[in-house]
Amino acid sequence: MKKRFIAGAVCPKCKAMDTMALTKENGVEKVTCVSCGEQMTQPETHVEKEVRPTEQVIGIFKQE
Ligand SMILES: [Zn+2]
Repeated sequence: MKKRFIAGAVCPKCKAMDTMALTKENGVEKVTCVSCGEQMTQPETHVEKEVRPTEQVIGIFKQE
């Protein structure tokens, strides 16, 4: 399965950085931490924002 890692994303469980991988399964996007295995079926809003505009994993541009 194709995985897209979310640059700069921090796992809410183990606090590891750059371990969050975005995958799509049956049309549902999931975020999985490859470090501790934490899974989220609904990526947090800020994660979606960072991934959606370019659908790439390189770089994060926070506009806050
Ligand atoms: Zn984790």
